[in-house]
Amino acid sequence: MNQEKKEILFLEPVCTHNIWGGAKLREEFGYAAEGDDIGECWGISAHPNGDCSIRCGAYAGMKLSEVWAKHPELFGNLPCDRFPLLTKIIDAREDLSIQVHPDDTYAAAHENGSFGKTECWYILDAPENGTLVVGHNAQTKEELISMIREGRWSEFIREIPVKKGDFIQIDPGTVHAIKGGLVLLETQQNSDITYRVYDYDREQDGRQRELHVDKSIDVITVPARSAKESVTSAFGLPKNRMNRLYSCKYYDIFKLEVDEKTSFEQKYPFLLMSVVEGEGTIDGRSVKKGDHLIVPCGYGM
Ligand code: ZN
Repeated sequence: MNQEKKEILFLEPVCTHNIWGGAKLREEFGYAAEGDDIGECWGISAHPNGDCSIRCGAYAGMKLSEVWAKHPELFGNLPCDRFPLLTKIIDAREDLSIQVHPDDTYAAAHENGSFGKTECWYILDAPENGTLVVGHNAQTKEELISMIREGRWSEFIREIPVKKGDFIQIDPGTVHAIKGGLVLLETQQNSDITYRVYDYDREQDGRQRELHVDKSIDVITVPARSAKESVTSAFGLPKNRMNRLYSCKYYDIFKLEVDEKTSFEQKYPFLLMSVVEGEGTIDGRSVKKGDHLIVPCGYGM
C-alpha cells in the first residue's frame, strides 16, 4: 500500500522558550526562533504541546500526529495509539530544575493515562569542567524523604562530570538535571510529565515555579544507580556505520558519523534521524546540522 509514497519525512521543528534557555538553537543550529531564551527544539514530535509539520513531499503540511494516525504503514503498523517518541535538542544557558519522571504505570494512574518518561541524552557540547545531575546520595527511602523535606540539597544531589560525546540513560525514577552550558540531544518517550523536586529557589515573574515533592518522593528510585554506571562515552567510535549506544524497550539509539559514502539497511519499524554536525546528502537530498527526519518502514526496499 502506498509504496510509491515511502519517502523520507523531513520535519519542521517547534522551539520552546524557557527561563534557562539560550540563543544557540538559533545561532548554531539555524532554527527560526526569536529571543535569547530558546530552551528546546522539538525536532521530531507528535505531542500536542509541539506537533511538528512535514516540511515537503507527499505529506507536506500535515502534522506528524496525523501522518501517524492515517499512514501506520510508514511506521511498521505498530500497535500504539500515538507516536511513541520525542526527539529534542536542548540548550541550557542556565541550570534546569532537579527533576524526576514517573514510569508508565504511575503516569497512567496519576496523570490521565499519559505515558511515563524514559529518556536519554547524548552530549553535543559541554563547557570545560561541565557537569550534570544524575542520581542522588540517599541510601534509604527514609534518608531520601528527610533530605528532601529538610532541603539538604548539597547532600542529596549527585553532580557528575560530563563531556562532549557522553551518553546518559535516564530511567524513570532517576533524579536528573541538565546544568548550564550543556547542549544535548534528547530522545524520550512521547510524554511531558515531569516532577520538579527542587528549582534552586529561583523566581519567575516574582514567584517560584511549582514543585511536585510528594509525587517525586513516590517515584524516585532508592538507592540510585552508581555514577559510573550512569555515563558511557560514545566518542571515537568507528565511522560510517551505525554504532548502537543503547537499547531498551522504548528505543534503540545509534550514532552514525559519516565522512564518506555509506549505506545501511532500514530494518526497523521506522528510524528517527537528527543531524547534529556538518552537512551532506541522503539519497540525493541535502541535509545539514539541525535537520530532523524520519526514514519510514521498508524504505529503500
Ligand atoms: Zn527529564
